[in-house]
Amino acid sequence: MSELRDFVADLMERHGAAVEMLEGDRLQVLASLPLQAALGWPELAQLSFGSKPSEHAIPIDLEGDWLDRFGSLFRENGRWAERQLTWTDAPQALCDPERLLDRALDLPNAVWRFQGVRATFARCLILAFRYSALSDEKREGLVWIGFNLSTGAVLDEVVARMRPLLAREQWRAPDHAARPGAGGCEPAALETHIRALLDHQIRLELEPFLRATRRRLERDRNRVHEYHADLHDASMKRLAALAGTEGEKSQADRRREQLRVVAIEREYQAKLDDLRHHHAIRVVVEWVQTLELYVPVQRFYVIIRRRKGERQIPLDWHPSVRLMEPPPCDWGLGIDRIRLVCDEKLHLTEPAGQAPCQSCTKPWCRACHPGRCPRCGTPATRNSGIASRQTPSN
Ligand SMILES: [Zn+2]
Ligand SMILES: [Zn+2]
Repeated sequence: MSELRDFVADLMERHGAAVEMLEGDRLQVLASLPLQAALGWPELAQLSFGSKPSEHAIPIDLEGDWLDRFGSLFRENGRWAERQLTWTDAPQALCDPERLLDRALDLPNAVWRFQGVRATFARCLILAFRYSALSDEKREGLVWIGFNLSTGAVLDEVVARMRPLLAREQWRAPDHAARPGAGGCEPAALETHIRALLDHQIRLELEPFLRATRRRLERDRNRVHEYHADLHDASMKRLAALAGTEGEKSQADRRREQLRVVAIEREYQAKLDDLRHHHAIRVVVEWVQTLELYVPVQRFYVIIRRRKGERQIPLDWHPSVRLMEPPPCDWGLGIDRIRLVCDEKLHLTEPAGQAPCQSCTKPWCRACHPGRCPRCGTPATRNSGIASRQTPSN
């Protein structure tokens, strides 16, 4: 619990309290009036963080509402931050740039040529989101979305590897030399791309939870079905037995049995509705934090050739995590490395971005024509708004 204790000590000092560390995972806090009011403590409070609560000390742990109360002290602070990553090791010499590119680029319908590489800084965005999924059970978690605004690449694996490094490294504000010149994604295109990535990531995270919920729904549905099928069968048998009989009593019995069958069917439908309601999943996603990060990179320039056209793209190798980012993507999520190149404007898209039209079977570029097939006008079946047009900087 010493991490929590250090966090609380730091937070209290930032809010003007005098803090003294005591033995046995305890803190003594001399709190200001606003702090006393926000946390419900006396002026001189003793806090305990250990597994054995001591007398006269307020026990603080991760349960209960302590984190919410501490969180209220932050208000909107810490939502946005910028920092520069420095790594003390000398830049890694790249002895075989073409081999690195060979592993990073997968262009089934185009060729590429290495043009040059230089050391520079990349301006990256790392966004953190919290999600909670609620049905008959609850799942919560955090997801991170990363972009290289200088090249337009999605930093999925790069961010995953960089996060522990960020936690370890000393915080440093970006200096002037690290800030690259103008350039970056259009805000609207970036927002659309973030939404698509977030949706994809949260679906991945929740997949086991969804599967388990579906399994429970299936199990409960089978049980409800079995129970009502037995009741229904029994009624039908009784009706069959009454079929050949005559007289008032038989008629009344038949009528009663028919009403029972209707009631069983109604109850079965109501039970199914209950189950659907009970197992429905509600997912809430909330933005937590944006980090603008300036990182040293080796920027590769590559010429992409398709038929008679050619286009230059930048690709950053991140020495801090020894990883090449995926190529930029004009249509699609851009997480994988495979890109098809279009004939018209040499857009780089995921393979689905050049797929044949479902109606006229002619392939078409979703980045050139986002809404519908240019030949026959059939609307695109998948969300094609995830284009990230961008102006590469320097
Ligand atoms: Zn195109
Ligand atoms: Zn078509």
